[in-house]
Amino acid sequence: PELRQDPLTREWVVIAPGRARRPRQVPEPTTAPTRPAVTEPECPFCPGNEDRTPEELWRLTGADGTWDVRVVPNRYPVLSAGPGPARRRMDGPFISADAFGAHEVVIETPRHDLDLPDLDEAAATNVFAAYRARSRALRAIRPGLVLPFRNHGQTSGTSLRHPHSQIIAVPVVPPKYRQRFDIARAYYDDRGSRLHTDVTAAEISDGTRVIAASDHVVAFAPFASTAPYEMRVVPREAEASFADVADETLAETARMLRRLLAAVRGLLGDVPYNYLILSAPSGEECTAYFSWHIEVLPRLTVAAGFELGTGMAVNPVPPEQAAARLRRAMARPADSGR
Ligand code: UDP
Ligand code: ZN
Repeated sequence: PELRQDPLTREWVVIAPGRARRPRQVPEPTTAPTRPAVTEPECPFCPGNEDRTPEELWRLTGADGTWDVRVVPNRYPVLSAGPGPARRRMDGPFISADAFGAHEVVIETPRHDLDLPDLDEAAATNVFAAYRARSRALRAIRPGLVLPFRNHGQTSGTSLRHPHSQIIAVPVVPPKYRQRFDIARAYYDDRGSRLHTDVTAAEISDGTRVIAASDHVVAFAPFASTAPYEMRVVPREAEASFADVADETLAETARMLRRLLAAVRGLLGDVPYNYLILSAPSGEECTAYFSWHIEVLPRLTVAAGFELGTGMAVNPVPPEQAAARLRRAMARPADSGR
């Protein structure tokens, strides 16, 4: 793969022909039972098939000696492992760079049939412990960006059903990301306080968009939500990078995500979504400026000409309404179907 920068936007694009070869398992045949088996013989992430993902980057072993979570290199990586920093090549207005970095898969559970909201709290926490451990290792690639994310459902990009997330480390700071960081830093320079902390405090005091809160984390539908049922999960006591999150906050974050995703499923059914764990750019983890946060984006609308042309999202569900519905869904007992 190769990184290329569009001279008109300064946005980086990964040209990755190897990605076209990855297997697609979704959708499964319509005649298949609605509930998948505990293990699938053909699934590369199921127990018994570990020889298909032999290189293990991280693992959590249970009391019985079998694995609870495994992190392995992505077999069809968007970025390939290699030495940094990303040396630029210039050809007139065109800039390109080697697409080294990392692309890893977090196999969240040995159970093929359990999705993240179905895991118990300890198992969900293990998944977030994997994000933290790998974020710590991958921030050595800098300047750059470490991003754990989860795709769920067909239109969110999932090609494999076994519960999994991915972690990428890119060797450049994308301009949109740079802008977020710069906004937070400028805010600090002006006011001497952290933007994310002030926004969270304002959301809590307004209250209409708060979905759930615990000792260390808060979930709300952002004031300017770009999508229906968009949710943001933020820590009360912030670290700039998820790599530095404390144990208790990590466990509460896992619990919160699990409950939010269960609420989304209870309210809207098994809709596609993505979540992203955003941290300060690697090497710029000053706690005064930035706080890591999680964006959960259900995929219920499709961006068309207006959105693509203006960069302005059109969101048909006011976040106050989304939050009220999500609060009610969270108060209901867990999904009985599972
Ligand atoms: N994959 C892998 N080993 C395999 C089969 C698949 O590493 O034997 C990877 C595949 O490249 C893909 C990921 O597992 O990146 C599955 O990810 P997901 O379905 O979330 O979305 P995708 O990345 O395909 O858009
Ligand atoms: Zn499986």
